[in-house]
Amino acid sequence: MKFVIIGGGVAGTTAAEEIRRQDASAEITIIEQEPHRLYSKILLAKYVTDEIDRDRLFLKSEKWYTDKNIELMSEARVLRIDSKNKFVETSEKREIPYDKLIVATGQQPKMLEVDMRGIAYFRTLDDAEILKSSIAHLRTKPKEQRRIIVVGGAFISMEYIHIAQALDIPISIILRSGGFWSRVISQESQEKLFNKARELGIDIHINETFDILGESEFEGVKLSSGVEIGGSILAVGVGVQTDGQWVIESGFDVERGVTCSKSLEVQEDIYTIGDVCEFEDGIMDRAMHIGNWTNAIMQGRCAATNALGDKCDYEFVSSYATRLGDIEITFIGDTDRSIAQDVRMLEQEGSTIELFDRGGRTVGAVILGLTPERAKITKAIQEKKLYEHNKSIG
Ligand SMILES: Cc1cc2nc3c(=O)[nH]c(=O)nc-3n(C[C@H](O)[C@H](O)[C@H](O)COP(=O)(O)OP(=O)(O)OC[C@H]3O[C@@H](n4cnc5c(N)ncnc54)[C@H](O)[C@@H]3O)c2cc1C
Repeated sequence: MKFVIIGGGVAGTTAAEEIRRQDASAEITIIEQEPHRLYSKILLAKYVTDEIDRDRLFLKSEKWYTDKNIELMSEARVLRIDSKNKFVETSEKREIPYDKLIVATGQQPKMLEVDMRGIAYFRTLDDAEILKSSIAHLRTKPKEQRRIIVVGGAFISMEYIHIAQALDIPISIILRSGGFWSRVISQESQEKLFNKARELGIDIHINETFDILGESEFEGVKLSSGVEIGGSILAVGVGVQTDGQWVIESGFDVERGVTCSKSLEVQEDIYTIGDVCEFEDGIMDRAMHIGNWTNAIMQGRCAATNALGDKCDYEFVSSYATRLGDIEITFIGDTDRSIAQDVRMLEQEGSTIELFDRGGRTVGAVILGLTPERAKITKAIQEKKLYEHNKSIG
């Protein structure tokens, strides 16, 4: 049986590994547009700051692919899926046949309309290399230009903050809305994060749009309030999207991601996993689109099992943790505030816990700080129960 996996990130590579674990004779090909084997995105910021070497990023050696008899076809982009005749067409005009296909293509950053030297994104190892050289360039600039200006207030912005802090580069943050994760967390939590950011010396501008200054090279921004900020790098973190045109043209539905059932099946013999996947979540009882490392691994394993003919419905509560200074920020489960029927706030030994309840049970949580309750909250969500503090679950 021939398994073709589009995308050699953590989801696709995990699926390949799981297929091999369960079936020694399967033919497995991963098609990957980047020139790299699997690397850790979680460690990319530490590579930009030189806290770790480039080699440490790679999670699989070349030998691993050979030993596992997994073909990694890199620098090849899939342009089209022909699900009727069961092949994919690559950028080199090759037609690769499959019996089972797994789409694990991740997501791409939303980009600004303007493009010039100094505008940076942060999704791939190549982006990390560009950031590194932009930072080296920043250091050659006059003092008033030596600043990173970040646009956006969610996960990727925390990565930029880490980089700027570690390298002692002044940083400004521009938020179109009133705060960090403004559609997810409460005003009180946003205040807590603002206070921390200010304590770290970060210059924050809320409810602002901006114009870019500079002709061929980024020189700064002019905010809607009239304030001008000089800088050499505009670090963009305004969300991600599915690079879905070719998927749509191949005949699949794309909403926030490629839509699929709870067994991650898009249609017969085709599955989707990881950041690109929008699946029917049996725990949340609605379509969910999740972008974190553990989810990508768990979906990779589940889709591999289904592609091999066994049964797996994906039911897993995953989480994403990041930090601002010494505040750990954790998102668990379904944190869509707009559809939560109730959001309960708990203060616990310096931590703030926001619990998102729907239909009489807890579906998600955001935690600012560390709490021993994290595992219990996750368990309550997984078991479709209401999390009640000081009450044992299960
Ligand atoms: C800087 C950064 C830090 C992060 N930190 C954390 C963290 O601390 N914790 C956490 O849980 N998550 C973190 N994440 C998110 C996590 O890395 C992602 O959820 C995870 O990598 C998703 O894996 P994936 O395999 O679905 O997608 P990806 O890793 O994006 O892999 C998809 C692959 O598909 C390839 N591809 C796309 N289209 C095609 C095509 N048409 N043909 C061939 N190949 C194609 C892409 O080149 C890519 O390599 C971070 C992400 C970033 C960018």
